[in-house]
Amino acid sequence: MVSHRAFEELHIPEVTRPWMESFENPNRIRLTREYLSNLGILDNQNVKSFDCKPAIREDIVRVHSPYLFDVVDELSRLGYGEVGSSSFVVKDTFKAACLSAGGAITAVNEVKKGSVETAFALIRPPGHHAGVGHCEGLCYFNNCAVAVRWLQGKRNMKRILILDLDAHACDGTSQIFYTDPTVLVLSFHEYGMEAIERGWLEEIGSGEGEGYNINVPLPFGTWGNAYRWAFEQIFPDVLRDFKSEMLVVCFGFDTHYSDPVGNMNLQAEDYAQLTRIILQLGKEVCGGKIAFILEGGYSLLALPLSIGAVVSTILDTEIKYFDKISGGEKIPKIVRDVTQEIQNIKKQYL
Ligand SMILES: [Zn+2]
Repeated sequence: MVSHRAFEELHIPEVTRPWMESFENPNRIRLTREYLSNLGILDNQNVKSFDCKPAIREDIVRVHSPYLFDVVDELSRLGYGEVGSSSFVVKDTFKAACLSAGGAITAVNEVKKGSVETAFALIRPPGHHAGVGHCEGLCYFNNCAVAVRWLQGKRNMKRILILDLDAHACDGTSQIFYTDPTVLVLSFHEYGMEAIERGWLEEIGSGEGEGYNINVPLPFGTWGNAYRWAFEQIFPDVLRDFKSEMLVVCFGFDTHYSDPVGNMNLQAEDYAQLTRIILQLGKEVCGGKIAFILEGGYSLLALPLSIGAVVSTILDTEIKYFDKISGGEKIPKIVRDVTQEIQNIKKQYL
């Protein structure tokens, strides 16, 4: 478990603008830690805890433009400013963003070193909407991309698969690796999000990276059953055929039915089942080297439970699910069609 107490104090966006930004706040981490602690997970003898260290400029500019790095830094010093759509800066934003990116680096580093098999980075702010030269959607630096470029630059890793399971398309991550065949980006998300009209099937990468960006857009209100069905049709084959050396999972829990931002119908037990598949495939293909990195998830009730579901599955312990609802047994035709289309596209490249 990689995290830091500072996430519970830094970067409190509602200070300046009580809007979308207020969902991404310190309570996300504080309540999750509290819940994990109550479950006994933080004291579990199989859990090692690591404090995040802030990423340094060299780490960030491997991915982002130096200008973006400086703008976030300078506006944070000023204590006020907007660096992108729904990305407001307050006085600690730069500190929190560097610590968050550093947490992602620590997670992949500990997995690469072999000190743990699986890592979970409990970090904020999220990162997957931040592109090379822009911040967006509550994201400042792209934590996962910074960690992946760090692995390639500092640890000589060649091929890495990023699996993004947030309600939103990881448009920043896709942009960063769009022409790069060494990093395959596979994103499951809902389509037709209010502001983010990206993440369509046709966005498959370009140049040498053509075929290495795979979007799985699922309709509004998709239930766990259909989501998991599509996941099992696509993810195992992609991971096996790409032969990733490590699996980096950007897990967002705004797909939960109670999330105030996302519009999907997943529940905590779905995350446990997805995690089971990920662990099994990760073992088969990349020797179990898996780093989970937190992205979104804004229901303060669902987020701790959802993360509890993932971490307890990693530890092979049981927890109680108090969010159970039933519905959505059928796989909608549109989900079958999208899945079929992706399988057809994939055949041409992998
Ligand atoms: Zn999201």
